[in-house]
Amino acid sequence: MLSFILKKFSGRHHRKYVEKCRPVVARINEFEQQYQSLTDEQLQAKTTEFQARVQGGETLDQILPEAFAAVKNAARRLCGRKVLVCDHELTWDMVHFDVQLIGGITLHEGRIAEMATGEGKTLVATLPLYLNALTGKNAQLVTVNDYLARRDSEWMGHLYNFLGITVGCIQQSMHSESRREMYNRGITYGTASEFGFDYLRDNGMATRKEDQVQRDHFFCIVDEIDSILVDEARTPLIISGPAPIEREQPFTRLRPGVEELVGAQLRQINNLVKEAGDVLAKAEATSEQRQDAAMKMLQVKLGMPKNKQLLRLQENPEWRKLLDKTDVEMHSDFNKDELYKYKEQLFFTIDEKNHQADLTEVGRTKLRPDDRDAFVLPDLATIFIDIEKDATQTPEQKEQAKRAAQQRYEVVSEDIHALSQLLRAYSLYERDVEYVVQDGKVVIVDENTGRIMTGRRWSDGLHQAVEAKENVNIERETRTYATVTIQNYFRMYEKLAGMTGTAETEATEFSEIYQLSVTQIPTNQPCIRIDRNDSIFKTRRDKYAAVVKQIQEAQARGQPVLVGTVTVEQSEVLSRMLKRAGVIHTVLNAKFHQQEAEIVTRAGHKGSVTIATNMAGRGTDIKLGEGVRELGGLFVVGTERHESRRIDRQLRGRCSRQGDPGATKFFLSLEDDLMRLFLQGNIASRIMEGAMAEGEELEHSLLNRSIESAQKKVEQQNFSQRKRLLQYDDVLNKQREVIYGIRNGALHSDRPKDVIFEMIEEELAARLAAAGFGEKGGATAANIESLIGWLNSHFPVSAKVAEISERADFDSLLKQLVERISQAYALKESVEDPAALGGLERYIVINAIDHHWQEHLTEMEELRRSIGLRSYGQKDPLSEYKGEAFRFFEELMNNVRLQICTSLFRSATNRDAFENLFSILSRSARLQGPASGPTALNSAVQADANPAGASAAPAENEVKLPSVTIRRDTPKVGRNDPCPCGSGKKYKNCHGAA
Ligand code: ADP
Ligand code: MG
Repeated sequence: MLSFILKKFSGRHHRKYVEKCRPVVARINEFEQQYQSLTDEQLQAKTTEFQARVQGGETLDQILPEAFAAVKNAARRLCGRKVLVCDHELTWDMVHFDVQLIGGITLHEGRIAEMATGEGKTLVATLPLYLNALTGKNAQLVTVNDYLARRDSEWMGHLYNFLGITVGCIQQSMHSESRREMYNRGITYGTASEFGFDYLRDNGMATRKEDQVQRDHFFCIVDEIDSILVDEARTPLIISGPAPIEREQPFTRLRPGVEELVGAQLRQINNLVKEAGDVLAKAEATSEQRQDAAMKMLQVKLGMPKNKQLLRLQENPEWRKLLDKTDVEMHSDFNKDELYKYKEQLFFTIDEKNHQADLTEVGRTKLRPDDRDAFVLPDLATIFIDIEKDATQTPEQKEQAKRAAQQRYEVVSEDIHALSQLLRAYSLYERDVEYVVQDGKVVIVDENTGRIMTGRRWSDGLHQAVEAKENVNIERETRTYATVTIQNYFRMYEKLAGMTGTAETEATEFSEIYQLSVTQIPTNQPCIRIDRNDSIFKTRRDKYAAVVKQIQEAQARGQPVLVGTVTVEQSEVLSRMLKRAGVIHTVLNAKFHQQEAEIVTRAGHKGSVTIATNMAGRGTDIKLGEGVRELGGLFVVGTERHESRRIDRQLRGRCSRQGDPGATKFFLSLEDDLMRLFLQGNIASRIMEGAMAEGEELEHSLLNRSIESAQKKVEQQNFSQRKRLLQYDDVLNKQREVIYGIRNGALHSDRPKDVIFEMIEEELAARLAAAGFGEKGGATAANIESLIGWLNSHFPVSAKVAEISERADFDSLLKQLVERISQAYALKESVEDPAALGGLERYIVINAIDHHWQEHLTEMEELRRSIGLRSYGQKDPLSEYKGEAFRFFEELMNNVRLQICTSLFRSATNRDAFENLFSILSRSARLQGPASGPTALNSAVQADANPAGASAAPAENEVKLPSVTIRRDTPKVGRNDPCPCGSGKKYKNCHGAA
């Protein structure tokens, strides 16, 4: 077995790894041999034995061979047993293969195990999950959907339960009660979104530690890791709610106008494209006429890049070349004005690559003939100057005029923004491609996987624009309560591992972002799949015709076919064509996971034809039906090369599992998006264009390579985009760590008083410094006065100006003030319900943090948006962003501190306590009178202790205070912690430098 494994290995690196695993695998199998003679009870007792040994200090690596052997042996004992999985009865028939043991070791070591489809990754994961659960911490497995979480946890659960380890799964519909119970089990299955959202709720929203559901972030295996960390990671997880202030939604108001505009443009474009076509078709057309036609084509491209007729014209290689040439020429600096003129004949222009839409003058006039400036930003600066200059106005009137101008500016800028989002929605976002409409909601479709991303929303008003376009209910502008990217969520785990059939092409990304290395695990049986050359056609129509023909032929033979499409829309197109051709088939598009999983299992039966978008039915393997082997196994047909090679490899991997026969073939056309956008001007495409006639088929291994290199280019581009996004997110992530750290500190402490006093001390220190204490000249009288004013309005300390000298020493003054507040607080504690005090303190901290943090998140979003606009000149937008973000963060911390100071004495556990405190304070004031001497506070304490008012010596009755550590200028962030600005430097060496 192992010698075969070695032969299969190409990379030295991977071979070395297997070499290293070989003795371990041998030991596992030796142990397993021994275990075969144990009784069930004896085997089950192993779990408790292992747990005790881990407690006793043995490492998991030391226990690994025995633990893996126990799991394998348990699997052996289950063989032949009927087990229930998602209400279906199955017979257990699996015992871990050697390659699966290697896969298990790989996962335990925190790597990515690349194992082909059908290699049994579900079973592989049981080994490291069991081993890591022995620590008593939560071992987790992430699946691509809820259904698989349930299926795999129930399926593999039979194994865990046999060994006495509990297992559970998180489902979207669960309440926190059940979630907590599931996380408390030894092993927990669930999706990335559920885990991520639970984290956000636990850390950003829970107000009591009893409300938190997750235990820890210890060990996590991500199944289909590429799909989760690469594809799904593009949209962050966001918990949001309605924004507090509601503004009028311009979308509904603007929609009719935009609809008309789009209609008008469409008519114009149709004329242009027809005129161009007519001229081009004429043999006697002069070169001038042809040039004119080319400009018309270009205009069409500018106005509606995906226009079907334009695509049709481009099928003629000569015309296509003409358009490309004109396009390049007109975009040169030299022709800028000319191009502008042509753009201005349209109502709006669309930039397909940059996903942008702009209104032209004509468009503006058409939209608002009555007010052509309705969509032109007013020049505020000039307006203000004019207002100032106007001698007839009083200052108040001027103020009012300025406010009005400002308001108008806001309305116009909001309208412009909404308008451009609406234009994008109409022109670039196609229903059933970019999104679907389900139950009156616009739901995003992941462009890569075809997966429906329920609950996620496009940001920046685009989602509302699409909702307006589809005439569904426009959801309110929301406010972000908590957000995290999938990347940053998974980077929290002590140990992360992954498995997938296709990681190799993204290996750099995994290692750079997650420090995860990819290890290829050889297949259990040699793979005998045949990957045929791509066939390339000139038009989509030709391509689909060829696909249908292939399918018909296969079906006639009885060979099952799985057809992969890139989008939901394509699935539907193909399905219609097949229906017309009388081919019976099934369509899957990742909408109904369980149902699909069941259909997919039948996709390998004789004569079946299944169309699936990339994601559909993933995680369920396709077993061959009877007699299919002899027919060549499953035939996989790709109808388009995907932007990313990985997705193509996923599709190919759906056949030829476990040594089965199988074949794959991709059908492409020059009209495919990938070809259209990225082969433009490429030599290969020019050769093809010139040489190809309608209906002709081109096939050569050289072409495959040329397409692959186009894919590689796109992959790299996408990777650098994701990396860039992550760099931005890292800034926020560091801040989130700091905030959640403080928040959790308060949440988990019985009495978060120290957190509060730390904040108070910092606030005081900042104020003392601002007042001038500690400086050479000392504080001014005015500063002292305002400091005293602030103190007395926030804390019941009755501080007097006379008590503070202008030359007071910073540290001792700080100490003195903190002590006084602390004494005042001790007094408050004495009248509060002691059981409720901790809760009150927690509330004060958490409320302050949540309020300002949520505001901060919104500001950061806006900052990120606006920084793009600011980034001309020499400045690097990322470092600009970091600088600003840090300023925002400082402000946030200031606000939090201030709010804590403000609310400490204004909150009470109950009304009585509040009133008690006041009565004591006022009584003490009466007793004390206005004279100086012992502070009002000390007297208050005395008054409480000595209702008669006898003046005992203060020392006897002083409340004993907990000692407060005094540090000057303590930053909230630990001095040695990473700086929240994201520079990667320590705080003390960066923004925390004194
Ligand atoms: P993957 O996730 O790697 O694509 P799955 O975990 O879905 O593969 O398993 C594919 C099929 O292989 C399942 O039907 C499973 O029952 C079977 N299988 C896995 N491991 C074994 C084994 N050791 N012996 C027999 N069958 C196995
Ligand atoms: Mg799987």
